[in-house]
Amino acid sequence: MKAVVYQGNGRIGLEERPRPALRDPRDAIVQVTLTTICTSDLHIQHGAVPRAVPGVILGHEFVGRVAEVGEAVRTGKPGDRVAVNVETFCGECFFCRRGFVNNCTDHQGGWALGCRIDGGQAEYARIPFADHGLTRIPDTVTDEQALFNGDLLSTGYWAAKIGEIQPGDTVAVIGAGPTGLCAMLCARLYRPAQIVAIEVDGFRRELARERGLADVVLDPGRDRLEEALRERTDGRGADVVLEAAGGPDTFQTAWKIARPNGTVVVVAMYEEAQVLPLPEMYGKNLVFKTGGVDGCFCREIMGLTEKGKLDASFLITHRCRLDQILEAYRVFEGKEDHVIKYAVTV
Ligand SMILES: [Zn+2]
Ligand SMILES: [Zn+2]
Repeated sequence: MKAVVYQGNGRIGLEERPRPALRDPRDAIVQVTLTTICTSDLHIQHGAVPRAVPGVILGHEFVGRVAEVGEAVRTGKPGDRVAVNVETFCGECFFCRRGFVNNCTDHQGGWALGCRIDGGQAEYARIPFADHGLTRIPDTVTDEQALFNGDLLSTGYWAAKIGEIQPGDTVAVIGAGPTGLCAMLCARLYRPAQIVAIEVDGFRRELARERGLADVVLDPGRDRLEEALRERTDGRGADVVLEAAGGPDTFQTAWKIARPNGTVVVVAMYEEAQVLPLPEMYGKNLVFKTGGVDGCFCREIMGLTEKGKLDASFLITHRCRLDQILEAYRVFEGKEDHVIKYAVTV
């Protein structure tokens, strides 16, 4: 089968690989129908994800049909249409029992797919712990609507949830790329008074505004962000900040625009270390929450998609076939042609 392989040293390639086989009774094999490229794939390519293994098949955001299941799999059967969770997790360890599945202690647990074990930019993928990692797609939900269930929407949903947004809050979202847009979509479920999007790219700002994801859009190159947030909140600042940009100064923006005692959720994946200037922020008494998604709300999210309350398919600006994916990587990396997300047919 064809697969996109991380070859190490900044290189990726489309290679011929054997079709994966079941290795454990809890595994499933999924025939991939639609896959996509994530910014994390670029981080791997750049060598910014030290645990990524050269030779691994990339891809951790995809949908498909169950081709085969191990004998211990209870919730899926061959033929089922499924969305695949970015995280594989055992469901039994200390962290899994508390919902912190990103830190599952199993050697195949956490974000392993397309990083430490073969992923889904390929014709088939082996999914460990299939009972936790696969979400059935209802007949009324299309592959494109389900494509972002396991990674982008899971991340936005998790960020909004741990931000503990209250009705009437002002939520600032830094970055209107795929993650930021999903964070806005999910933040809206908590009925904030206003969502303020901060984004350097005019096309992305316009998308956030015209889709109704943000009530206000700010341009860091033009607007004075701290003042703009204070003006809209009786001088306080944002109640909750979701930092989804990962740019050189966006972490500093995040804590500066938050109000005292506010919550700053950092979902961005930086390629460089960031500075936490504690003397400057002393007395502001902020709450920081950081890290990678705990992807254990996939069924809840699919339910909301089925009800028409959470649909991220508008993120798909570009479509191609798996044999054209290397060109898609180039366009996606260069943010050419206003690309937000690719849908890659396998
Ligand atoms: Zn991703
Ligand atoms: Zn676990």
